[in-house]
Parts: sequence; C-alpha cells; structure tokens
Amino acid sequence: MIKENEQGILIVVSGPSGCGKSTLDQKLIESRNDTVMSISDTTRNPRGEEKDGVDYNFISTEEFEQKIKDNKYLEYAIVHSNKYYGTPNKHIDELLSKGKNIILEIDIEGARKVNEKRPDAVFIFIMPPSMEILKNRLMGRKTETKEQLVERFKTAYKEINEVTKYNYVIVNDDLNESLLKMNSILECERCRVDRIEDVYLGNQEEMIHELLVDFDKKN
Ligand code: 5GP
Repeated sequence: MIKENEQGILIVVSGPSGCGKSTLDQKLIESRNDTVMSISDTTRNPRGEEKDGVDYNFISTEEFEQKIKDNKYLEYAIVHSNKYYGTPNKHIDELLSKGKNIILEIDIEGARKVNEKRPDAVFIFIMPPSMEILKNRLMGRKTETKEQLVERFKTAYKEINEVTKYNYVIVNDDLNESLLKMNSILECERCRVDRIEDVYLGNQEEMIHELLVDFDKKN
C-alpha cells in the first residue's frame, strides 16, 4: 500500500572526546548489517592501536590540502587546534542509494557543514554522564599529553554547549542502554512520513464494490 523510499540514512554523531561515541558506533555497526561507518581522513598521528584505513585514513597535511582543492570532502574541519579531519564524499551517495545507513563521527563544526549540505541527515549528540566522568575517562586512556588533555577538555565544554542544534541526545551512562537508544532512533527515522515515496490505495469505487460483494457473500 505504501512504498517507502529505500534510501539509507546519513547519521551524524558528535560528542566530546571520551564520551564513548566510537565504542557506541562500533557496537551499532556490529549489530546491524544495514549500517556502515564513514572513515575520515586526518592529519593527526595514529593513537594507541589505531590502524590506517580502519580508524582513519592517516594522511599528510599536503595531501589533505590537495584533496580540499579537488573538492573531495563533504565537510572538513580543523579540530583540536591544528589537525585536519574530513569526511570523503566518495561513496556516500552510492551507499545511501543502496539502502545503507552511514555514520559520520565528526565534530560540531563538521556537523554544522553537513547540516547545510544535507538537511536530510539525522544529528545525534552523545553526552557524558558528567564532566567528572569525562575527565576520568580521558585521563584513563593515557593517550594524550597534559596539554592535549586540557585542550580536549576545553573543546568538550564548547561542544556540549551546542547540543541543542542536534535532533537527539544520548547520555552515555550504560553502553547497552545507549545502543538500544541508537537503534530506536534509527527505527523511528525509518518511520518518518517524509520517507514515503508513494501511496497506492487502489480505485475507491472498485474497493467499495468488492466490499459490498464480500459483505453479501458472508451475510
Ligand atoms: P580524535 O582525535 O579523538 O579521534 O577525534 C577528535 C575529534 O574529531 C572528534 O570530535 C571527532 O568526532 C572529530 N572528527 C573525526 N573525524 C572527523 C571528520 O571527518 N570531520 C570532522 N569535522 N570531525 C571529525
């Protein structure tokens, strides 16, 4: 009766460093075969166990700037003072048209740019349960210097102030509960009326005729 548009959903996920968004996104894509992560380019160095081509495409500043000139990014931003991060636009439309949901895990500036270009995207903000917990999580990773930690903490305050620009917020206290909420948001978005492509109700006169015939048969 109702034909739904088969397009996937572009999902923008932001939240301060240490809020647990990467773990959450990872769990989400493991739990659904219709959802993939977009792999960003960055000019920062790999951290801990991070792998090139999996966590990020780690590229040089020269290469990044050339790709900006060549219009290869849906959005890009300079995050944490001096490092480029960008979403390659390659494959995005192709994946969406195949019905794949795509997660862009990007900062607030990148999210604002995506909003201008793709108002159809869904914007989710992942919030730490408290700043105290965020501080402990960031320090617990032991991957940043003291200066980097202060920088990330300052950025966290700035980012959290932008939460009202997002469609949804998830306070990431319990991973399983947050995962349930992410899945629920996807299901809700799939039910939006603006995803309806066509409505076939059939011919009204014919349907009423059929109804009367059926009624007479049964009575
Ligand atoms: P991290 O260095 O901790 O991996 O990421 C730092 C910040 O950069 C995070 O807020 C992350 O969401 C953001 N980020 C990662 N990839 C992109 C991207 O492609 N574009 C933008 N604008 N931000 C990104």
